[in-house]
Amino acid sequence: MKTAVQNKYDYLIAGQGLAGTVIAHLLLERGRKICIIDEPSLSSSSKVAAGLFNPVVFKRLVKSWMAEEQLHFAEDFYPKMEVLLKARFFYKKELVKIFAEEQEKTLWEKKRSAELSTYLSAIQAGSAVGDSIHAEQGYAFVSCAGYLDVPLFLELSRNYFLAQNLILHEKFNHALLTFSDEMVTYRSLGAKRILFCEGHLAASNPWFSWMPFNLAKGEVLTVKIPGYTVDKVVNKGIFILPLGNGLYRVGSTFAWDKLDELPTEAGKADLIQRLEKVLKLPYEIMDHRAGIRPTVINRRPLIGVHPKHPALCMFNGMGSKGVMIAPLFADHFIAHLQEGVMLNPEVDIRRFYKEPAPGNKG
Ligand SMILES: Cc1cc2nc3c(=O)[nH]c(=O)nc-3n(C[C@H](O)[C@H](O)[C@H](O)COP(=O)(O)OP(=O)(O)OC[C@H]3O[C@@H](n4cnc5c(N)ncnc54)[C@H](O)[C@@H]3O)c2cc1C
Repeated sequence: MKTAVQNKYDYLIAGQGLAGTVIAHLLLERGRKICIIDEPSLSSSSKVAAGLFNPVVFKRLVKSWMAEEQLHFAEDFYPKMEVLLKARFFYKKELVKIFAEEQEKTLWEKKRSAELSTYLSAIQAGSAVGDSIHAEQGYAFVSCAGYLDVPLFLELSRNYFLAQNLILHEKFNHALLTFSDEMVTYRSLGAKRILFCEGHLAASNPWFSWMPFNLAKGEVLTVKIPGYTVDKVVNKGIFILPLGNGLYRVGSTFAWDKLDELPTEAGKADLIQRLEKVLKLPYEIMDHRAGIRPTVINRRPLIGVHPKHPALCMFNGMGSKGVMIAPLFADHFIAHLQEGVMLNPEVDIRRFYKEPAPGNKG
C-alpha cells in the first residue's frame, strides 16, 4: 500500500556531515523548507577532520584553488553560525611552517615577494619554536589560516535542526525514493528536490555511480603534551593543532587502499615517527581515529543536478578541504538551483556524465 505524502518540502537533504550541514543552514537562511535524513553512525569523516583551513598548498608552495573567494565566504559564514548557535567553534590561527632544507627557504622567499605576499611572513632564524619544536633550518608564518571545530559545529547544528523538527535520525534507503522531473517522494515526505550529501558513501548511490571518487582514508591522533607552549598550528610533514586543555590534534595520513574507518597500527606508527622528528617534548596518546575523505580524481567538488533526473542533486566531493570549500559552493549551488545562475563548470558533475550502461540506474 502506498503511503500518502504528508509533508511538502523544498529540499530533502540526505546526510548531515559538513556538506549537508552548511547547505542546510544556507537554505534555511533563504527561507526554504528542508528535511534532513542522517544516520550519524554511518560515516565519521567530518567528525574526524582536524578542520584546518589554509590558503597555501605547501607541496608546491602555491595558492590553494580559489583561496580568496573561499576564505572570504568562510570568514563570513562561520562567525554567523557562531552567533546563531551561541558558541565558539571557528578560530583564526597563524600557521607555523618549519623548514626542512635550504631549497624550501629559497622558494619561500621567491613566492613571498610575488603571488603569496599576502600570506607568507619573513623567515625567522632560530633552532626551536617556543622550546617545543625543532626548527634548525628556521621557520615562518602563514596568515589567514585557522580551524573549525567541525564536531562541535555539527553537534550544535544537529540540536538546532532537532529543535525545529527538521531532521530524522535514520539510514536513508535509496530503494524507497520515487521521483519525477518535478518532485521526489521518500516514504511520507515529499519535496521538489533531494540533495545527496552522503560524503564517501555516495560512491554507492545508485543514481550517481559515475562519480569519479578517489577516496582517501586518513588517520589522526589526539595527544597530551605537558609543557608545550606553541599556540599556533605547526606544520612540518604533519600538523600539530592546539585544541585547548593541554590537548593537541596530530595528523594526518593519506591512504587509498583498505578504505574502512578503522584506525590502524601502521597509521599510528607513521604519525608517531613524524611527530617525534619535530617535537622536543614527551607526549601521551589519548585518542586515535580514522575517516574517509570524499576526494575526487581532479580534486574539485562534485556539485550539481543529475543530467537525466532533475530532482536529484549532489553536493559532495569536498575532499580534504571541506571547511573552506563548503560555504562558498553551498551558496553558489543554491543560487544555481533557485535563480538559475550558471554553475561553475569546474565543479559541475556534468563534466563526468556518460550515458549509463543498460540496466544501470545512473
Ligand atoms: C583524517 C581526516 C582529516 C581531515 N582534515 C581536514 C581538515 O583539516 N580540513 C578540512 O577542511 N577537511 C579535512 N578533512 C576532510 C573533511 O572531513 C571533509 O572534506 C568533509 O568533512 C566531508 O564532509 P561531507 O559532509 O561531504 O561527508 P561526511 O562527513 O562523510 O558526512 C556524510 C554524512 O552523511 C551521512 N550518510 C551517508 N549516507 C547516509 C545514508 N544512506 N543515510 C543516512 N545518512 C547517511 C553520514 O552518516 C554522515 O553523517 C579531513 C578528513 C579526514 C578523514
